[in-house]
Amino acid sequence: MTLQPLADRHGRIATDLRVSLTDRCNLRCSYCMPAEGLNWLPHEEALTDDEVVRLIGIGVERLGIREVRFTGGEPLLRRGLVDVVRRTKALVPAPEVSLTTNALGLARTAEALAAAGLDRINVSLDSVRAADFATLTRRDRLPDVIAGLEAAVAAGLAPVKVNAVLVRGVNDDQAVELLRWCLDRGLHLRFIEQMPLDAQHAWQRSEMVTAEEILLSLESAFVLKPTSESRGSAPAEEFVVDGGPMTVGVIASVTRPFCGDCDRVRLTADGQVVNCLFAREESDLRTPLRAGAGDDELADLWVAAMAAKRAGHGIDDPTFLQPTRPMSAIGG
Ligand code: SAM
Repeated sequence: MTLQPLADRHGRIATDLRVSLTDRCNLRCSYCMPAEGLNWLPHEEALTDDEVVRLIGIGVERLGIREVRFTGGEPLLRRGLVDVVRRTKALVPAPEVSLTTNALGLARTAEALAAAGLDRINVSLDSVRAADFATLTRRDRLPDVIAGLEAAVAAGLAPVKVNAVLVRGVNDDQAVELLRWCLDRGLHLRFIEQMPLDAQHAWQRSEMVTAEEILLSLESAFVLKPTSESRGSAPAEEFVVDGGPMTVGVIASVTRPFCGDCDRVRLTADGQVVNCLFAREESDLRTPLRAGAGDDELADLWVAAMAAKRAGHGIDDPTFLQPTRPMSAIGG
């Protein structure tokens, strides 16, 4: 079988696959979706476990995918998650397998996930103050997230990363507190700039907390030094904190885009290939898959989808339009 790399016309090759296992979530982060939730995908439109694993297999065995990250929505809500992780890790060559989660319920599954071959985990946590956590997520569940983080560390899923979004007027004064909290627990914190991917289309650049603001705030309490390691395709700029060894990351997708180094491709829970988080076009693999298409045909469709990837996300372009589906449906 010859390997067909997922190349685009701008010299990039996708090797990192983000798989959304569900568009449902048990939190309601205000910058992501409305309080009442969204019209979730009907069950029959979502790929089955076998269909997901088959498409991941095509990505890994034919298209050069080296890392598979499960996300959503909330991937821990997917009943077959542990088995999907095990079957993904059993592919040849075995990809790196990771998970992005809000950690609700992780205390119960961290060990099984590690045993199934999960390599790494990212947990989203925007505030360590219970009241602000509840305001941001519209759910009073901070203790469950902390229990999930502790279980991930105990299961050996190190280094456990924490992703935080700062929201103006709610937790924009908490960068230092979050970093101290993570450093004390050996967790690797990364701040993510808020992106125009919310279901409500309420994002405003003027309201966004920028990477520059975050770094200024952190520098009031810590000495930060850019790491000497090359960033490669990693989205986060990393800084050594107080001489190390711990680092803090900032993912400045809006103010310091890194599209030129992007190596990512996404598969939605309903089997659409999305070549960029901000793409307005999707390429349907589910319909041909269910119509009996062979692996060669599905691989060719995937290659064509990637070839059409645009050079950049275009947020700064006056003609920029948010994708129709929000981040929770595309896969964060
Ligand atoms: N439910 C999982 C979680 O909480 O990590 C995975 C999906 S969630 C969409 C993935 C990440 O996207 C979370 O860290 C979340 O904070 C972030 N996110 C959601 N909407 C965002 C937005 N508009 N801008 C930046 N990050 C966002």
